[in-house]
Amino acid sequence: MAPDLSRSAVIRLLSLTEKEDQEALMKKAYAIKEKELGRNVFLRGLIELSNVCRKNCLYCGIRCGNEKVVRYSLSDEEVLKTIEIARQNRLTSLVIQAGEQTNEAFINRMTQLITRIKKVTQDDFRITLSLGEQTADTYRRWFEAGAQRYLLRIETSSEELYRKIHPADGLHDFNTRLNCLERIREIGYQTGTGVMIGLPFQTIENLADDLLFIKHQDIDMVGMGPYIEHTETPLFNDAATLMPLMDRFELSLRMIAVLRLLMPVINIASTTALQAIVPAGRELGLMAGANVLMPNLTPVHYQRNYRLYEHKPCLDKRAGEILDELSDKIKAIGESIVYDDYGDSAHYLMRINQPTSTPKNDYQRKSMSCSGDDRRR
Ligand code: SAH
Ligand code: SF4
Repeated sequence: MAPDLSRSAVIRLLSLTEKEDQEALMKKAYAIKEKELGRNVFLRGLIELSNVCRKNCLYCGIRCGNEKVVRYSLSDEEVLKTIEIARQNRLTSLVIQAGEQTNEAFINRMTQLITRIKKVTQDDFRITLSLGEQTADTYRRWFEAGAQRYLLRIETSSEELYRKIHPADGLHDFNTRLNCLERIREIGYQTGTGVMIGLPFQTIENLADDLLFIKHQDIDMVGMGPYIEHTETPLFNDAATLMPLMDRFELSLRMIAVLRLLMPVINIASTTALQAIVPAGRELGLMAGANVLMPNLTPVHYQRNYRLYEHKPCLDKRAGEILDELSDKIKAIGESIVYDDYGDSAHYLMRINQPTSTPKNDYQRKSMSCSGDDRRR
């Protein structure tokens, strides 16, 4: 199947319902992943830095309007300790995710924290940020401090649907989000986006357009997963209109598979929301063409306060346990965790005209011989 599938072909694939047809789609997507990227899985440790958020997205459990949430922020020391655990487990990358904060104190804190991480890891680490909408200046400051990747889900590429799932208060604007994504890419980040799948009011056509949007934007990495309702959110009022969870799960696998057909060398994460519906959901995501997992390394006592959706898995497991279990699960499906490579998106490396893998040692050699260049980004 050609990477330039037509919109109607995408709609047809997303609409498959017969088990055999779906299996054939997964097989095809997996074969492309295997050919282009090998039977390899990249790990990124996830730190849920803070659930403080200025936004009020109608679907999200930690929206500022949810007064039941106990708010927290990890200290720098807690973040650095988590990074130490990640490195002890040979992880080469970390995603720092949080609610959206745009005040000067937060921006400065993050700039300093990124600088500190860069220093303690001797620049031998990749940092992904997922901290929502910021000004171009802030994105640039964090990039210059040493963050290399940024993940900002567009949530849906339909402006009309975007309006239905966000409050009309001037703070939740589709075009602002789109502009942010464009600034992130311009500044030089490996650029990530994604959508929620199975939202109220969402159609298969919307989802097909989401995949074509991702392709058109030439995105380097994608994290997309099923929408899972949260009782303490306004969108829960529309829960009766939702498709059953298992259908959302299967549709999410088809979304991953079709995206792999459209974009053979991007990084696609198999998200935790898949695991929230089916215990082996993330492994099935890998078999559908995903190649990245993001084990949650947030200290256990904070995790329960970072509930974007209900049924969030693994709320009682420590980082070491999670990583041990994951390694066994990945081996069991015939894939291997890549430990000696930063796992940069091959799509990004091709886009900036670099070799399509960045092995750690190789990179260290290169960076020693060309100090001052920003190849790492
Ligand atoms: N505040 C930042 C990052 C944290 S939220 C931001 O919004 O960009 C990370 C992602 O969680 C969101 O982009 C959204 O896609 C997802 N999310 C929020 N609520 C969800 C829900 N109920 N079900 C599934 N995913 C959800
Ligand atoms: Fe805040 Fe992100 Fe949740 Fe929206 S999705 S309320 S920005 S944490």
